Amino acid sequence: MSSPAILDASCIFCKIIKGEIPSFKVYETKYSYSFLDIEPTAEGHILIIPKYHGAKLHNIPDEYLADILPVTKKLVKALGLEIESPEGTGYNVLQNNGRIAHQFVDHVHFHLIPKRNAEEGLYEGWPAKKADMGELKKIADDLVKKLDE
Ligand code: AMP
Ligand code: ZN
Repeated sequence: MSSPAILDASCIFCKIIKGEIPSFKVYETKYSYSFLDIEPTAEGHILIIPKYHGAKLHNIPDEYLADILPVTKKLVKALGLEIESPEGTGYNVLQNNGRIAHQFVDHVHFHLIPKRNAEEGLYEGWPAKKADMGELKKIADDLVKKLDE
């Protein structure tokens, strides 16, 4: 069986990695490529992508994924987001998988989204509700069993 291609000739983010499409690159390692999002939700909205084509997180080998959070940490510091401000400085790391989960580019990407004030960046929008403890226990037990197998 042939091994999967690492990059996909028709993928827009693979083309960015190969330099076939321009991007505002900010950082690169053997495993990842980081560049400015072209439709930023905040100044310094960055996309961090593995140099391996795969649509969803579970398609990406561990060594590529292992590179991404340390790179994200470096980018946080380069953006100055580790420094508290009077308004409060924060950031979100967002990674969408599947159209239903708001993914529009089918090459895994992690958004690093600065949040320096209420107007910029990510807004909260999820249907949190109080859980039933018995139901939570059942879900956890099922998962623990599956993960032990
Ligand atoms: P998602 O909804 O998680 O799939 O986000 C895809 C992101 O990719 C969006 O925020 C787009 O603005 C961004 N994007 C799409 N094409 C480009 C491009 N050529 N250069 C930079 N960012 C892009
Ligand atoms: Zn790709």
